[in-house]
Amino acid sequence: MRSVNRALRVCMLLAAGCAAPSLGGRGGPAAAPRYEVHAVRFGTLAKFPKRSLIAGAPAADSLDIALMVWVVRGGGRTILVDAGFYREKFMRQWKPVDYVKPFEAIGALGIKPEDVTDIVISHIHWDHADGADLFPRAKIWLQKEEYEYYITDSGTVKQRAIDADVAKMMFGLKAAGRVNLVNGDAQEIMPGISVYTGGKHTFASQFVGVATRSGTVVLASDNAYLYENLEKHIAINQTLDAASNLAAQARMATLAAKPGLIVPGHDATVFTRFPVAAKRVARID
Ligand SMILES: [Zn+2]
Repeated sequence: MRSVNRALRVCMLLAAGCAAPSLGGRGGPAAAPRYEVHAVRFGTLAKFPKRSLIAGAPAADSLDIALMVWVVRGGGRTILVDAGFYREKFMRQWKPVDYVKPFEAIGALGIKPEDVTDIVISHIHWDHADGADLFPRAKIWLQKEEYEYYITDSGTVKQRAIDADVAKMMFGLKAAGRVNLVNGDAQEIMPGISVYTGGKHTFASQFVGVATRSGTVVLASDNAYLYENLEKHIAINQTLDAASNLAAQARMATLAAKPGLIVPGHDATVFTRFPVAAKRVARID
């Protein structure tokens, strides 16, 4: 009888120990989940002019750039950072190669569109925001200033960096109560997931810090297009404020657990620098 009791006590201790990590989120930031992060490639833009990405690059230089979304899982959530694109007009205009729809690409991780609980949109450009309505249950997280700067009160284009269909779609999602507008810099929008502004790729573009078992991963999206931006301290070419962009990139380095855990928005070498987890998928840690 005594040994049964002891076994029971050990079981309870083990159970408590095992259960502790999954309780993350109830007790505030200290108990935040440690998320798993994957970069998922849904296509390529071939021979992209480098000068559009790296300020001052030679006019003749070009490179193949990756089209990516990032999947963050933990604490019962399946979160996308950016949503890719799928509308036919973008296919015709940009002719992506090796393309699959973003929800098909994340299928390699066993995720169905309806499994996605949240989508953090870094900025309103077509290649990052257009796919937001592919995920029927997801809540969208977008900076309030970004929304209000680019979209009118009737869902039309206010500033031309946003595509008309993306503006209309985002307006519709907001009317349906599915858009959470984030109020500025350094906001913890979910336990262990914070967003930061200042990259100035667009008016209020944001980047994302995620708590993982390796420490904080920073998903820069287009606030840093390529590793070359980060490693040579060169502003992205498409920025409203180069000084602010460089300051944001320097800040990413203070937030990330190590420099290699800052993930740029379009660099194809993400898929050679990190371990392959599945087709088109790299595990970020
Ligand atoms: Zn982009």
